[in-house]
Amino acid sequence: PATRPPMQDGAVVELAPGHAHYLGTVLRMGTGDEVALFNARDGEWRAGIEALRRDRGQVRVRRRTRPAEPVAGPVLLFAPLKRDATDLVIRMGTELGVRRFLPVLTERTNTHRVNGARLAGIAVEAAEQCERLDVPEVEEPLLLADRLGAWPQDRRLFVAAERPAQRDGTAEVGAASVEGVRDGDGLLVGPEGGFSAAEVALLRSRPFVTMISLGPRILRADTAVACGLSLMGAGFRR
Ligand code: SAM
Repeated sequence: PATRPPMQDGAVVELAPGHAHYLGTVLRMGTGDEVALFNARDGEWRAGIEALRRDRGQVRVRRRTRPAEPVAGPVLLFAPLKRDATDLVIRMGTELGVRRFLPVLTERTNTHRVNGARLAGIAVEAAEQCERLDVPEVEEPLLLADRLGAWPQDRRLFVAAERPAQRDGTAEVGAASVEGVRDGDGLLVGPEGGFSAAEVALLRSRPFVTMISLGPRILRADTAVACGLSLMGAGFRR
């Protein structure tokens, strides 16, 4: 379970209702059982269940089992999609090591609002699932031009472009295109309707942008996110 207060030996932590339910009803745990605890900041800890009722409970922190890890990984820029697809982007992105999610509003973005609290909850669940000790931030949506304006000039931005004309023969396909990827470099994936010609021109005018291909087929945006991040992930192997 994720908890917010600083973790220390002997501290008593109140469980969130969903976590209490999961431990008691789904996993059939009870008083005296041990669970793993993380708060996205202080590493992973073991804690013993002190009390557990239907949707309430407390655990007592015992010892740290994993130290906090330095956070390194790509930044994902994505056009918000339909609800389920956006959920999938956050879930898969968290599993694949995204350190920040930056929603971007483009001409053909259908969904202009994102529910930050809901998406943050999905990021927490995904971090728990993949045993990641930090939780990536989901930031407020920005217009594409503003997002490009705020982009750090010393970081590369790989833009997934499905049509050869958008790439003008300059892009490489596959892992070669993202060779040398570094911490904080970004991947941008467009909306269901793709990027407009003006947006492609805007993107290509930026020196930090590299247009990349993810193969000959037109992928759904959520599939493109998983595919692009997997390629970039090769640069973060330990
Ligand atoms: N409606 C658009 C079209 O037919 O041209 C397709 C957009 S696609 C569903 C959504 C996004 O996924 C694109 O903007 C692009 O970022 C990414 N994408 C999909 N397939 C891709 C590919 N083969 N190579 C690179 N990017 C791809």
